[in-house]
Amino acid sequence: MSRHRNIYMTDELQAIYDQTVEFVSKEVLPHGEAWEEEGKVPRQVLSQMGELGMLSLRIPEEHGGLGLGPLASATFSEALGASTFAGFDVTVLVHTDMAGPHLVNSGTPEQLERWLPGVVSGQTVLSIGVSEPDAGSDVAGIRTSAVKDGDGWRLNGTKTFITNAVYGDMTILAAKTDPDNKYGITMFLIPSETEGFEVAKKLNKHGWLCSDTAELVLTDVFIPDDQVLGTVHRGFYETMKNFQNERMVLIGMGVGAAQAAIDQTLAYTQERKAFGGHLYDLGAIRQRMAMNQARIDAARASMYHAAWMGEQGADNVKAMSGAKAFGCEVINQVMYDCVQFHGGMGYMRETPVERMYRDARILPIGGGATEVMLEEVAKRSIMG
Ligand SMILES: Cc1cc2nc3c(=O)[nH]c(=O)nc-3n(C[C@H](O)[C@H](O)[C@H](O)COP(=O)(O)OP(=O)(O)OC[C@H]3O[C@@H](n4cnc5c(N)ncnc54)[C@H](O)[C@@H]3O)c2cc1C
Repeated sequence: MSRHRNIYMTDELQAIYDQTVEFVSKEVLPHGEAWEEEGKVPRQVLSQMGELGMLSLRIPEEHGGLGLGPLASATFSEALGASTFAGFDVTVLVHTDMAGPHLVNSGTPEQLERWLPGVVSGQTVLSIGVSEPDAGSDVAGIRTSAVKDGDGWRLNGTKTFITNAVYGDMTILAAKTDPDNKYGITMFLIPSETEGFEVAKKLNKHGWLCSDTAELVLTDVFIPDDQVLGTVHRGFYETMKNFQNERMVLIGMGVGAAQAAIDQTLAYTQERKAFGGHLYDLGAIRQRMAMNQARIDAARASMYHAAWMGEQGADNVKAMSGAKAFGCEVINQVMYDCVQFHGGMGYMRETPVERMYRDARILPIGGGATEVMLEEVAKRSIMG
């Protein structure tokens, strides 16, 4: 039995896990450094994943996917984490699990028929454009506006920190359509080549270096009615529903990476000689690493539990928010220790834990900051 089998894992999920780990070992690990330098994941890798069916776990069967649920995404994201290149993981997961669900869950039959084939094959790489310079955690505070104009809408505004929007093909973008209502938001499908829709800047980041992140400017962008996604003015509520999946895969990729960092640190400390033995013979190190394994096991278990609740159709906002807050904090603690126990080598660019430490820092900020997640738990914990 594989050590990764858990009580939620079926043979099908185990096969997804194994296929993904094998793919990242062969196709990502040897090339990741070059992609980090280039600031880009080659399109051909995404097409290859499309051909192997790896981009369509959550796409309905009638549209060429496997029609699987949250447990498949949890499994897939954890397995991607084994790549140790989180910039690659997030490029894939924004497409499959952060932007994709908006289209799958809210698209009309015509929209699904028009756009899903490219999503499945990796020809149409998606991004999700919600955050703005003045509104991140407070989604209702966005200012990008969409005003009705004949048989479509006219959009103006700025988006920032948008993953996949420099090299991707379509952004699912949130805009205010009812200025009198804080929550009057609508989602739009905006192909990258749309007139007036520009990448203002490719952003320079602390980590996730092979993932592209854009600042976008919209100047009188015309979007026809058939590219409105979901119900007009209801985008805030429709978007919020997809956030549980987004939170989950961020934990999953982080747990997968932390496990890889732990494994590398165990190997290093058991090899490295000091004080007449190996570093791992020192009680302080072996006990901290044992605690780190327990932390990651707990983070992994809480994520799968929340995923399982979602799979049953249960409300998992409290469980997933708690798992995100807890998981992303402990992933960072684990990465800190893994750098620490590599000593000076842990600070060198050639050591993978140096990169994984930088990559993990965004996890308690993006997709719902720890404090925002804890508020989600706290307001659901008021007794009486
Ligand atoms: C690399 C990267 C990629 C990203 N990709 C995308 C993307 O693809 N699409 C997209 O739409 N966005 C994306 N984001 C944006 C990301 O989701 C936001 O940065 C995040 O939601 C936090 O918003 P903010 O940066 O505006 O911080 P703010 O909302 O200004 O918050 C700053 C800090 O204040 C604290 N805080 C905020 N609210 C509360 C509260 N209610 N209670 C207590 N403390 C609070 C938190 O510690 C938070 O980190 C990305 C960001 C980065 C850095």
